[in-house]
Amino acid sequence: MPNINITRSSMPTYEEYCEEIRGLWDSRWLTNMGIKHRQLEADLKNYLHTPNITLYTNGHLALEHIISAMDFPAGSEIITTPFTFASTTQAIVRCGCVPVFCDVEKTYYTLDASKLEACITDQTVAILPVHVYGNLCDVDAIQAIADKHYLKVIYDAAHAFGVTRGGVSSANFGDASMFSFHATKVFHTIEGGAVAYSDGNLVDKLNALKNFGMTSAEDVPYVGGNAKMNEFQAAMGVCNLRHLDSEIAKRKIVVEHYRQRLSDVAGLHLCPAQEDVQSNYAYFPVVFETVSRDQIFAHLQENHITARKYFYPLTSDFACYGDIHTAVTPVAQSIAQNVLCLPLYADLALEDVDRICDLILNLL
Ligand SMILES: *Cc1c(COP(=O)(O)O)cnc(C)c1O
Repeated sequence: MPNINITRSSMPTYEEYCEEIRGLWDSRWLTNMGIKHRQLEADLKNYLHTPNITLYTNGHLALEHIISAMDFPAGSEIITTPFTFASTTQAIVRCGCVPVFCDVEKTYYTLDASKLEACITDQTVAILPVHVYGNLCDVDAIQAIADKHYLKVIYDAAHAFGVTRGGVSSANFGDASMFSFHATKVFHTIEGGAVAYSDGNLVDKLNALKNFGMTSAEDVPYVGGNAKMNEFQAAMGVCNLRHLDSEIAKRKIVVEHYRQRLSDVAGLHLCPAQEDVQSNYAYFPVVFETVSRDQIFAHLQENHITARKYFYPLTSDFACYGDIHTAVTPVAQSIAQNVLCLPLYADLALEDVDRICDLILNLL
């Protein structure tokens, strides 16, 4: 039996990508916001229906840069959840802020807005919730609390590219949203990322921050770094964006097949579809209630199928933060112990989905 990996990157045809990069051999302009960079930025504004977007060499630096562009005082608290990829919490800490962990709710594993106000202190400056697996957070409740306490809202939307609610794109919630265009994501630029944001005054600042803080060859008003997306990355994005809707449609077929096989099975829990939300079918998480998740994981591995304990462990348990964080997040803890993401990509054969489901159902 062939190996089945957790994911498989989408790619345009070899010819399409070569055609897209051909001009670079004439221009010799390979990075520093060249023609492909500008084209992808415009294409993304159009696709996401969002006014401001800035591209980065990866999603993590997009997140660090939007946090740092907001100029929070050192030691400020940012409320987030521990049920996420390392990047979310690392970005907060690397920007000199303190993560305060709020629990997640049990249906969609996103920030539990009913527990949010209890986390707010005099030091709180922002909320950084995660649209986990592409499930949208309770954006209305979060915004209402943010408005009441004058807090910024920055979404980690790494999983939510292309997701819309009532026709509104995930790029338009809160003050800013970070997207990851890593090779394993639904839409990718090999490595890459972006931040979409509402305040048009940040455009020049963000562009400067990702280019050593320089606004011109002789003017350096900010302490910046280097986080620019290069032309080859942007060209991959331009190509992939052309095919994104059909990729998402293919993922939908795979997800519907999983759902058909695994819905209403005693001992496991699936995320229900969200009302009024157009999903991007980024991940297929299953929470096991009777059989141990690690046993299922090992059983699939023995059969050459790689699932992922995504997200385990909680970021609040990372050794690098020592034990300064006394997070009490029982729901996040329980999901992290019992969740497994099953293989999912546009070209995953339905027979393979059946094989994966058979192995799981046999163990249950
Ligand atoms: C992938 C991911 C990131 C980081 O994105 P990169 O492009 O890999 O830097 C951040 N947060 C979450 C939730 C992710 O899944």
